[in-house]
Amino acid sequence: MVATATHCSYCALQCGMTLSPSVDGTVTVRPRDFPTNRGGLCQKGWTAADLLTSPQRLTTPLVRDGRAKDLRPASWDEALDIVADGVRATRRAHGADAVAVLGGGGLTNEKAYQLGKFARVALRTKNIDYNGRYCMSSAAAASNRAFGIDRGLPFPLTDLARTGAVLIAGGNVAETMPPFMQHLAAVRDRGGALVVADPRRTATVDQATLHLPVMPGTDLALALGLFHLAVTDGHVDRAYVADRTTGFEAAWRAAAQWWPERVERVTGVPVTAQRAAVRALADGARGDGAVILTARGAEQQSKGTDTVTALINLALALGLPGRPNSGFGCITGQGNGQGGREHGQKADQLPGYRRIDDPASRAHVASVWGVDADDLPGPGPSAYELIESLGTDGGPRALLVHGTNVVVSSPRGRRVMERLAALDLVVVCDLVPSETAELADVVLPVTQWAEEDGTMTNLEGRVIRRRKAVEPPPGVRTELEVLAGLAERLGHGERFGTDPEQVFDELRRASAGGVADYSGITWERIDADGGVFWPCPGPGHPGTPRLFADGFPTPDGRARFVTVDHRPVAEDVDADHPVYLTTGRVLQQYQSGAQTRRVPSLAAAAAEPHVEIHPDLAGRSGLSDGDLVRVVSRRGDAVGRVRLTTAIRADTVFMPFHWGGEQAVNRVTNPALDPVSRMPEFKVCAVRLERVVS
Ligand code: SF4
Repeated sequence: MVATATHCSYCALQCGMTLSPSVDGTVTVRPRDFPTNRGGLCQKGWTAADLLTSPQRLTTPLVRDGRAKDLRPASWDEALDIVADGVRATRRAHGADAVAVLGGGGLTNEKAYQLGKFARVALRTKNIDYNGRYCMSSAAAASNRAFGIDRGLPFPLTDLARTGAVLIAGGNVAETMPPFMQHLAAVRDRGGALVVADPRRTATVDQATLHLPVMPGTDLALALGLFHLAVTDGHVDRAYVADRTTGFEAAWRAAAQWWPERVERVTGVPVTAQRAAVRALADGARGDGAVILTARGAEQQSKGTDTVTALINLALALGLPGRPNSGFGCITGQGNGQGGREHGQKADQLPGYRRIDDPASRAHVASVWGVDADDLPGPGPSAYELIESLGTDGGPRALLVHGTNVVVSSPRGRRVMERLAALDLVVVCDLVPSETAELADVVLPVTQWAEEDGTMTNLEGRVIRRRKAVEPPPGVRTELEVLAGLAERLGHGERFGTDPEQVFDELRRASAGGVADYSGITWERIDADGGVFWPCPGPGHPGTPRLFADGFPTPDGRARFVTVDHRPVAEDVDADHPVYLTTGRVLQQYQSGAQTRRVPSLAAAAAEPHVEIHPDLAGRSGLSDGDLVRVVSRRGDAVGRVRLTTAIRADTVFMPFHWGGEQAVNRVTNPALDPVSRMPEFKVCAVRLERVVS
């Protein structure tokens, strides 16, 4: 039995684990000591190998004849010919931009890179974006404009254990990535503060020293209020602000309007709690350090970029970024959410986290790809805007989907299904028959995680190795092989190899000189060191675990305060829809649930979505614990089971988003977009509750 050291298949913590295949085909998972998990795994990690032998695994290509109800098995040649013929016919009739691509934040760096190149070189379409748009895009946009760079955590996760105070805005790591909690427990055990802003009293809040029970959609007002108190209570690090930042005065003038009593009225967070939170962070800043972290609760809003910006302003006022055991960071969610946004899947980017509209970036990447820079398409629309345009006049007529289940994960889910139905060709690469695959014309079965080699970039910006431990089932191909097969049929075969290490070497060259510079990282180095932090510009470079110690990658080397102000939610409650809905995750499920719903023990532990309701609201709504309730917004409805709890505000309900069909809460959520990041407002909309009578 050969044991293989690798990392978990799911979230961005990328916990270390060892896989040991047995002769009977099963694979044993054992936790492995790695800095992010230190020997810990969550229930998802322990059971990750179950999906390798799942009877629900796709193992043969499937095609749909015309409007036939069912997909039928096909050979790889037939399926790839259908896709290539469809792409050619679509381009002939409607132009290159009539073919669109959606990628995913779970794809390896190699696949993400190759997919972006495939779209720009083989398809020559501008229409590519990825599901990270729904995940970290607001934090990425805010970090870019403040620091000139976006790396989720600009320091190793282990730094957290040495800091004096942590504020988490809108994150529930105790459920989403449980091994993360040991780093926070270390803060608390040393007498430090753990402050959590969340509308719910979550499992993470239960471990906190202070809870800020913020009303959904008002995190920006809260952040402005904390900045306000940092100034008025005398906690600003004046020397840091003067030496290392610009824009303080204008940002402060906006925050000056957010005095504590006004913030309490808008957010529901008591003045005493606001003041205690700021004092804890300021004490940390003067002592062992302080860290401010955001996650989806603060980010998935139509003002998510400004919300994160306001928290960065607070961090800058306290003098945190670039200091030891201090700073601002985003807790990236998807397994390769960080790498997925660096290598060219994003509508506005080329590899190396380069802007696609920058002439020098286009020239560099075009030279690596062996094409003319003038032939590279320009920026395209964001994920939800792309979906909205599918099948419309002048919009795409064909869609290739890789590593995302958009029918479940996009807001206004029924609309997404309508847009897919309006297309001439939908192609889905997946390992299981997801809800999106069910609507496809061609489904291509691909390898997963332990069946392939590659690299991932975890939430710290540490590039790590995903190693092959078992052979894939017969009939399954890697995504690199799929792209190569299509590229060959489209006349670009010589540009698309199938060896992941060779693809990584090309990625390194394409990234050289970019913001996310991988040019000094090799698989050999990762194997030797256990991981390498980007930027790593050149073979002799040690990598960069900590950013900003010597300045910020902005034109003047200073971080930028950016002036922001609060604005209301995109859709407020009214007489017809009197309750706020917020969404999130549960411990046993991951993202759209396409994979974890097929793991028996996870499915048994979290079989259906629940709807958290405060007893007072349940009483007013005629609901009891265990009832089925229909959650209805202006866009659609979803059904879940009532779970009474005082851990949620009485004006708000919570529903997790891991299920499809009538259990899909994203049929309800609001696609109102953040003007900067184009992030939909997943985290708050107005609903009414209807008891389901059986
Ligand atoms: Fe896997 Fe994330 Fe759980 Fe770790 S925390 S075992 S990476 S799902």
